[in-house]
Amino acid sequence: MIKTDILIIGAGPTGLFTVFEAGLLKLKCHLIDALPQPGGQCSELYPKKPIYDIPGLPDILAGDLTQNLLEQGKQFEPGFTLGERAETLEKQEDGSFIVTTNKGTRHHAPIVAIAGGLGSFEPRKPLIDNIAYYEDLGVDYFIKDPEVYRNKKVVISGGGDSALDWSIILADIASEVTLVHRRNEFRGALDSVEKVQELKLLGKINLVTPAEVTALHGTKRLEGVTIAHEDEQILHEADHFIPLFGLSPKLGPIGDWGFEIEKNAIKVDTFDYQTNIPGVYAIGDVNIYPGKLKLILCGFHEATLMCQSAYQIINPGKRYVLKYTTVSGIDGFDGTRKEAPKAVVQAIL
Ligand SMILES: Cc1cc2nc3c(=O)[nH]c(=O)nc-3n(C[C@H](O)[C@H](O)[C@H](O)COP(=O)(O)OP(=O)(O)OC[C@H]3O[C@@H](n4cnc5c(N)ncnc54)[C@H](O)[C@@H]3O)c2cc1C
Repeated sequence: MIKTDILIIGAGPTGLFTVFEAGLLKLKCHLIDALPQPGGQCSELYPKKPIYDIPGLPDILAGDLTQNLLEQGKQFEPGFTLGERAETLEKQEDGSFIVTTNKGTRHHAPIVAIAGGLGSFEPRKPLIDNIAYYEDLGVDYFIKDPEVYRNKKVVISGGGDSALDWSIILADIASEVTLVHRRNEFRGALDSVEKVQELKLLGKINLVTPAEVTALHGTKRLEGVTIAHEDEQILHEADHFIPLFGLSPKLGPIGDWGFEIEKNAIKVDTFDYQTNIPGVYAIGDVNIYPGKLKLILCGFHEATLMCQSAYQIINPGKRYVLKYTTVSGIDGFDGTRKEAPKAVVQAIL
């Protein structure tokens, strides 16, 4: 049985920042994530894309933000159960909780913070008979590392921002990029559509519309696709087929734990982001309240307030006085100490 103060379900940016805020309050965290790596959407969906709205960081790749959050939390020695999905939540007589994963790992904590984002991601897959056979053998639903496609023949299908953006990015990396969309019009941003048209004229993207990929070929791995274009069936060589039709988020097992659910998200009290089950909080993309914005910075704020409330449950009656890190410094659980600069301390005292 893994024991901790705050058990966090979801190691996305919200869950990772919770480790830091909890650490300042001397509370220890353990995180469970169904994905094999931390970072949530940032590492699974767009690690190489820049984010421009993290306060104080004008421009940071989503993958680098994940690394920074891990670095920031490291001193508080979080535990991780990765590659396992939290399946059940059982309330104990003393008010604490046991959370068990699909692989049977049991975790015990007085506080549970659900930071499960949109839940587990299920890509919308095209209806092609043998597509499952080629998954990880040339068919990819997410692009984690564009370098995988260097000097390869890539067919992308879809009409939204992801399909347009990745076609533009891969045009400089892959040996050939073919963008297939079933309509002549795209749903994505106008400047991306214009950029794709520009790259088409330069011969850097093959644009095939209105068209659809209808069959996949290859013996050991993907070697080609059939593109149905008007009355033609075009057999096209391809090392990779990347259908980007969006993701359908599923709350998964968390949806059966007795929370009040609205629009596939958990309703919370904005005082401290507690759910209708006392001692269980929901923070980040997974929660809903009037005015909710699914943004990373909102998740950070929610995690901070949540930790203060959790502190009161774990330490009943104990008063916590908010301290600036610039004044108090930071004592890591690993024995490290980040000193408060003397000049700042003297100026404030
Ligand atoms: C393409 C794209 C671009 C974006 N750009 C920006 C941007 O520029 N700025 C911005 O602020 N936001 C942006 N976002 C949104 C941002 O990524 C999310 O707001 C953020 O990731 C939410 O963080 P989170 O930690 O709450 O959830 P997530 O990042 O979704 O992480 C949740 C984690 O919980 C795990 N999980 C769920 N259920 C379980 C379970 N039962 N057991 C175990 N693990 C579970 C999931 O596997 C996942 O890893 C973007 C999103 C996308 C898709």
